[in-house]
Amino acid sequence: KDGHAGSKYALYDETLRASVLKEQQLAGEMVKALEEGQFVPYFQPQYRYAAGRMTGAEVLARWNHPERGLVSPAEFIPVLERNGLIARLDYYLWEQACSCLRDWIDRLGADRVPRLSVNLSRADIYRADLCSYLNDLLRRYNLPTDLLHLEITETAYMEAPEQLVDAVTKLRAAGFVVEMDDFGSGYSSLNTLKDVPVDALKIDMGFLDARDRTRGGIILASVVRMARLLDLPATAEGVETQEQAVYLASIGCEYMQGYLFSKPLDRASFERLLTEQPSA
Ligand code: C2E
Ligand code: CA
Ligand code: CA
Ligand code: CA
Repeated sequence: KDGHAGSKYALYDETLRASVLKEQQLAGEMVKALEEGQFVPYFQPQYRYAAGRMTGAEVLARWNHPERGLVSPAEFIPVLERNGLIARLDYYLWEQACSCLRDWIDRLGADRVPRLSVNLSRADIYRADLCSYLNDLLRRYNLPTDLLHLEITETAYMEAPEQLVDAVTKLRAAGFVVEMDDFGSGYSSLNTLKDVPVDALKIDMGFLDARDRTRGGIILASVVRMARLLDLPATAEGVETQEQAVYLASIGCEYMQGYLFSKPLDRASFERLLTEQPSA
């Protein structure tokens, strides 16, 4: 072997080793953070636009890091996924969501408490105990099944469609409402929609090209129309401007979520919102 190339490989090995170590260290830190309860749920309200009413909220994970402060999912979700830890975070957040729902119903009354949507990753779908775990969770907190909606993210759709169909069918038979997250953002959305019997769609405004509003608007209108023809309620997320909201309403998209209405809120702020809004 030529010495020059050898040293190049050695250098590459060093860099690779360093990054593997860093990843392991980070994953270890996250396991500890999970055990210590450093991950917390944030809540982003979802509205029925015409009625101006909050109908639910999405639960989004944040890492309340002792030194770094609030860390966003973009930093920790991929690490957890690569290291087989994402299910632990998800199970933890579902538990938090149910614990909040129980507490709010007891303190504020059931008519002030909206349903919560939680996120499911691909790893969750593969777990044989998924449905029985969720059933058990809601039973433990004495909550009706339809108070917890399940958002299945796009990455979960790429492989094993049969497994996904089975999992979703089982969850729906148990009474859970299953939503397809990030609809329209990936190649497989249409195929998945054909095969997987979901209850609702979430359409991410982010997939539209902001530089070409006309084309984006036509695509969006077609997606919303398709949802209506399939009798699937659609929630547009990432709604940032009044102009977008008015357009969405005009093409028949009833539900919206985004910075225009509210950013994701910590528990105390979200509770304040619940006590302020008129009860149902
Ligand atoms: P997502 O499920 O598509 O969640 C929506 C993301 O859009 C959230 O980002 C939210 O904060 C952001 N967002 C909301 N309104 C607006 C808006 O008006 N404009 C823009 N530009 N963005 C908006 P976030 O909280 O950073 O979460 C990112 C992703 O991380 C989520 O995307 C979800 O896929 C994942 N994630 C978050 N929490 C969990 C969790 O507990 N479990 C799993 N498996 N994934 C999670
Ligand atoms: Ca989601
Ligand atoms: Ca989404
Ligand atoms: Ca997204």
